[in-house]
Amino acid sequence: MNFENGLDFARTQDAADPLSSFRARFTIPKRPDGTDLIYLCGNSLGLQPKAAIALVHEELEAWGTMAVGAHFAARRPWVSYPDHLAPAAAALVGANPSEVVAMNTLTVNLHLMMVSFYRPTAARHKVLIERPAFPSDRYAVESQIRFHGFDPTASLIEVGPRHDESTIRMEDLEACIRAEGSTIALLLLPGVNYYNGQVFDMAELVRLGHAKGCMVGFDLAHAVGNISLRLHDWNTDFAVWCTYKYLNGGPGSIAGCFVHERHRDWVDKPRLAGWWGHDKASRFQMGRDFNPIPGAEGWQVSNAPILSMAPVLASLGVFEEAGMRTLTAKSDRLTSYLAYLVREELGASVEILTPSDSAQRGCQLSLRVLGTRADQRRVFEALETHGVVCDWREPDVIRAAPVPLYNRFEDVFEFVGVLKRALASNA
Ligand SMILES: *Cc1c(COP(=O)(O)O)cnc(C)c1O
Repeated sequence: MNFENGLDFARTQDAADPLSSFRARFTIPKRPDGTDLIYLCGNSLGLQPKAAIALVHEELEAWGTMAVGAHFAARRPWVSYPDHLAPAAAALVGANPSEVVAMNTLTVNLHLMMVSFYRPTAARHKVLIERPAFPSDRYAVESQIRFHGFDPTASLIEVGPRHDESTIRMEDLEACIRAEGSTIALLLLPGVNYYNGQVFDMAELVRLGHAKGCMVGFDLAHAVGNISLRLHDWNTDFAVWCTYKYLNGGPGSIAGCFVHERHRDWVDKPRLAGWWGHDKASRFQMGRDFNPIPGAEGWQVSNAPILSMAPVLASLGVFEEAGMRTLTAKSDRLTSYLAYLVREELGASVEILTPSDSAQRGCQLSLRVLGTRADQRRVFEALETHGVVCDWREPDVIRAAPVPLYNRFEDVFEFVGVLKRALASNA
């Protein structure tokens, strides 16, 4: 890709961007002087789609005017509200609508999935995860291992980057699966690692895992709405994701879950059940016997949190309009531009941990700031002072995610300028 340094170039790119009008669909937080913050933190909490306000308000109205009646009489009846989310969510992860469900929150879904798909035996009890895995995933996996009476020191396998490398090599994952696969019950890996932004070859991981008889599940917290996904075609057993990061669903918003079609008739098999997973036609007859809905909906436990779903519905509508293909094309260009400017402007003072091959990353770049601890803190504080929002991971990594729906080339240009001045004031 051909890039040039300079604000004019960034502005020309923005003017030619087919998605430029989407920025106006979001509320962009402001600096004290009224200008827009440079928000590169959509990997942590996505911005508010303006359409969310009307959809939340509509449900507050329905509650106020119809109360219990809104379960059936609201414009979108609450009993079937989740049905409005499934098609767009399925499209984002490459699934059939009956393979996905919106429910709970991410870590809860991870537990529910492990209850069904992590069934350790004396001969096959291990779980393979990446290092570093997001802490919640690690806690969840360790607690599941202990719950089944096993010991994480023997049952948890972690594959991380080699010494002095910052990403995980596929060949190392493959070697581990080949060597230990017959004792591994579950491969639980990310679509995109939260720390270094690396994308994993999910199709290949499923193939390798299944060849050894392992279940394969993915945590897509940093992948959904960021990279293109084909969960069904890859034969993934299950996947989970949250909707408040790239999916802009709002703080703590309802999470998503995928269960492959071949597990759809999960009858008399392990699962933690609740009334919302029961056959819809007889749900309200309050019978004694649990008769699960076939497919992912059978894993629902509780009735739908409508006020948490409404912003997600708004956001999924924006994704449908923009289209993942257009989004990933811009994302690739925008993040490549960030990488170009970082190399051009910051050279030896910043190391990019994220792979440079665009097939191995989404929009996030993880930048290691070289220097003393005090320098590093000063850099991060300078970013904050100048209205740049990105996040800092101890000890020395800045994660910056230019999100194609609402970030501009100009944001990226400004960010690198602020970072450059902050680094210069260290010198
Ligand atoms: C963001 C994130 C979480 C957060 O879990 P919640 O249950 O939504 O609080 C968990 N795992 C990964 C990999 C994440 O990126």
